[in-house]
Amino acid sequence: DEQAPDHDIRALDAGTVQRIAAGEVVERPASVVKELVENSLDADASRVSVAVEGDGTRELRVRDDGVGMTESALRTAVEEHTTSKIRDIDDLEAGVGTLGFRGEALHTIGAVSRMTIRSKPRGGARGTELVYEGGAVESVSPAGCPEGTVVEVRDLFFNTPARRKFLKTEATEFDHINTVVTQYALANPDVAVSLEHDDREVFATEGRGSREAAVLSVYGREVAESMTRVDGGTDGVSVEGLVSDPETTRSTREYLSTFVNGRYVTSPVLREAVLDAYGGQLAPDRYPFAVLFVEVPPETVDVNVHPRKMEVRFDDEQGVRRAVREGVESALIESGLIRSAAPRG
Ligand code: ADP
Ligand code: MG
Repeated sequence: DEQAPDHDIRALDAGTVQRIAAGEVVERPASVVKELVENSLDADASRVSVAVEGDGTRELRVRDDGVGMTESALRTAVEEHTTSKIRDIDDLEAGVGTLGFRGEALHTIGAVSRMTIRSKPRGGARGTELVYEGGAVESVSPAGCPEGTVVEVRDLFFNTPARRKFLKTEATEFDHINTVVTQYALANPDVAVSLEHDDREVFATEGRGSREAAVLSVYGREVAESMTRVDGGTDGVSVEGLVSDPETTRSTREYLSTFVNGRYVTSPVLREAVLDAYGGQLAPDRYPFAVLFVEVPPETVDVNVHPRKMEVRFDDEQGVRRAVREGVESALIESGLIRSAAPRG
């Protein structure tokens, strides 16, 4: 019988489906770093070390001293849609206390790379090494390793050349990685977070709990000394953190970090609220440093947005905007960094 070639609809093979799906989650090396660091933090680590070679496609490694995994947990963890973090949609609706919950990161990273995981549970007798390549388990064997987990990702996008072509220069890709690790270091001052690039230390926080110390480790003394404390909030919205004086600025928004319920987000609403607080005392096209933590009731914010994006939706956008602007503004006024009758504009 006859076939019209333009109606030749057929099912994609599983490998193709897997790689297309992987491309949605893993856009660039920084997306891998984000997922792995989130897993380490969710595993209750007190130390998270990230090491990157070049642009991160040849090799990157995330090591933690978290709860670790047994052999059977490790085998399950790399399967599709497996998670220990939520059980069903009700858990998700109730608000998740962990950074991850989709159960797809390890599986999809392993679909587009050669991935080795070594893990040993806390207090466990032995460690396990699992090698995963292009979406399939290659080997599982006993391994001598410290408690915690190390994930090594090599040859990222080796089987998805289109995705690899989309990558930018090494400097740009590393910059994205640096931004990601920086945000988690700032958000988790009680965790010692470090970043290495080509065997050179980029920064390392001490993990002793102070936000000021984390800012000092990440951004250096000049910036740390320009920061003033924010501690405010209204109507169920709390706003806390550090912002720089109006003279200590950069030409990009990259250093204006905002977190909602502990999660790093890029939110025009929050960013504009911070800039507004300076009341026109910033030079044109200059952005302050900020490390700002906004807490809202979990049911009033939607975090179940696309995994690659770091956006949020607030039920009461105006309320959040007002709380942030007022919180930052009063901190700046109290420290004498801006005048209270500052002209707007
Ligand atoms: P999710 O984080 O959404 O649960 P992942 O694919 O990232 O999905 O991880 C799957 C599971 O593997 C996690 O739920 C967790 O139980 C386990 N896991 C992943 N990374 C680590 C780690 N660094 N330490 C301990 N357990 C981990
Ligand atoms: Mg995860």
